[in-house]
Amino acid sequence: MKKKRIFAFLLTFIMMTGLSGCSVSAKGLISQKRLDEMTAKGESFWAEQTQHQIGETVTVTEYIKPLSYILQYPKTGYETTDARIEGIVQEIRNAFEQEYLPEIGPKGETRRDNNTEAALYLGYETYLTDETNMSLLFFETHETSDGMSPHTRIQAFHFDLSKDQEIPAEELMWADFTKNASVYTQKYFSTTEPYNERIFGNYKTLLAPENGRFDRFAFTEEGVLFHFDRYDIFPGSMGIVSLLIPYEDMRTKITEPEAEAGKLPTAITNKKMVALTYDDGPNPIHTNAILDILEKYDARATFFDLGYLVEKYPDVVKRENALGCEVASHSWDHENFNKLNDAAIKADVAKTDAAFQKVLGRSPDGFRPPYGNCNDHVKTLIPLPIYLWSVDTLDWKSRNADAVMAEVKKIGDLDGKVILMHGIYSSTAEATAKLVPYLQEQGYELVTVSELVEAKHGEKPTNSKIYGYSYFQ
Ligand code: ZN
Repeated sequence: MKKKRIFAFLLTFIMMTGLSGCSVSAKGLISQKRLDEMTAKGESFWAEQTQHQIGETVTVTEYIKPLSYILQYPKTGYETTDARIEGIVQEIRNAFEQEYLPEIGPKGETRRDNNTEAALYLGYETYLTDETNMSLLFFETHETSDGMSPHTRIQAFHFDLSKDQEIPAEELMWADFTKNASVYTQKYFSTTEPYNERIFGNYKTLLAPENGRFDRFAFTEEGVLFHFDRYDIFPGSMGIVSLLIPYEDMRTKITEPEAEAGKLPTAITNKKMVALTYDDGPNPIHTNAILDILEKYDARATFFDLGYLVEKYPDVVKRENALGCEVASHSWDHENFNKLNDAAIKADVAKTDAAFQKVLGRSPDGFRPPYGNCNDHVKTLIPLPIYLWSVDTLDWKSRNADAVMAEVKKIGDLDGKVILMHGIYSSTAEATAKLVPYLQEQGYELVTVSELVEAKHGEKPTNSKIYGYSYFQ
């Protein structure tokens, strides 16, 4: 690559977003019916839906090897608002440069391939509900020449133009805003084509009011418009999915569907449960193959990911998270913590945490020490629950799906056990394809490690505590 490909993309982008000067569309074009049709046909949201209801479009195109930019943002004619918008664009640029410019590590090593080119595309929409209230949505895509799937992000901002000032989203959200959005969205996507066939199995959790998917919105004339990014609640191939909720539905208190009884165990359950765990990933091929199987069987697992791979393959990590799996740390790059000094351990923990924060906006769900090595001093330096395992499949050694199955079967009763595998081998993905339906047929629920701790031991996982081999017997 791939300069050619980036250029092709740029041209498509220019045509799509109408840099030629006819990008201002009329008010009130948007309807959920049209959005549904576009999603069903796999059409890009941007291609038609880009709405610029105010001001002029500023377009910046630059190529400063190895980075290219196509940035579009509005110039509204309101001084403070325009300064703020330029500030936002600058922040987006800075973050992109920090992520993709070649970086020299402490030992003089190049941390990133100098030949990797990267492009930043920034598009936007503005919506006016009346003369004064403007919602601004930024759509950001990063595309790199190393073949990684594009990284996308949506951000929303609101302005009161009569006062020429920005209004924080929280100030605009009325009582029951998030709750109503959550109830409406769950119902719409689970009962309407093409969404109902493809929504992730744990959508109720993903779309729960407290899970932060309803703070990016635009007020339009027709209702409140929400966008869901790739992997938020649908497979990445669905692209950005949009839902327009009429104001009356957002304002009226919507009755919640009946809560599932007994969802959270208050006491230790008798239900048979087992936790599958995958170390050393994420891997774009094999982890995705494992996730395909978990998605198909509506099962959950726990991934102990390496920080440097979290940074490299953010979309795989997002998908692990989106499928309701636990996403935990396995250190930055697999050092033996019993041989590191305190400063090195703390640095490793901080760096890995930062990688998770960047991709998931939160810390990892737990920690598994490389080689299972974590002595009584080391554990005090880990601010996360520390999970080992109780069934070793030896998948790294056999590299054979049948051998993995045999290791599991010879244990007998698996209730409460944690099974160790590695998410970086095709043989382990093959083993998963056999293991998941086998365990479900045997009556086991496949849960995450923390769910197992809570359900089987009635205990909330505690930081710096080792949950070891004997705990999971
Ligand atoms: Zn490992």
